Amino acid sequence: MELGRVLFLLSAFATHSFIGYALVRGCTDVDPRLGLVLGLLPDSDFLFPADWGWPFVHRGLTHTPLFAIGLLAGLYLVNRNRSVTLAGGLAIGSHLAIDSLSPMGIRWLFPLKTTWNPSLGLAVHSPTATALLWMAALGLLAFRAIQRPSHDREPATDRKHKHETEQPTPTPDATTELE
Ligand SMILES: [Zn+2]
Repeated sequence: MELGRVLFLLSAFATHSFIGYALVRGCTDVDPRLGLVLGLLPDSDFLFPADWGWPFVHRGLTHTPLFAIGLLAGLYLVNRNRSVTLAGGLAIGSHLAIDSLSPMGIRWLFPLKTTWNPSLGLAVHSPTATALLWMAALGLLAFRAIQRPSHDREPATDRKHKHETEQPTPTPDATTELE
């Protein structure tokens, strides 16, 4: 693979991961590393062996709404947590939304229709688009930091420690009163 192509892919991977991270961090209280992973997950199709064929190709199965729904259903079954599922939906949804705008599009109706991939044909991973996406993600992170600084600064361990150090007020029991 030529160097230009490698750099293009690395830039695209970093953008998808960062957008997923920023969305989860900015919109939920879930660990943003989930966004980092699920924001990139659809592009794991680059790892499929070439001889597997459709739909195990790039922009195949892992870039379909059906895959995203299945993944989120699995996530909910494992965690039983709506916030985690919502966070996962934001991350993987952002990947599909961005890719759907590119010339290659995504197969919205897989497996009912495998050729329908309407697209605006935008160069979503061009330097300009990449800069805009990164600025939007950074803006979201900054907004979150301004909106909820106190929440982010108080780690859960501090709250626990404070709770544990609060001593209950001793109350005299009946036997003490009799003495
Ligand atoms: Zn992709």
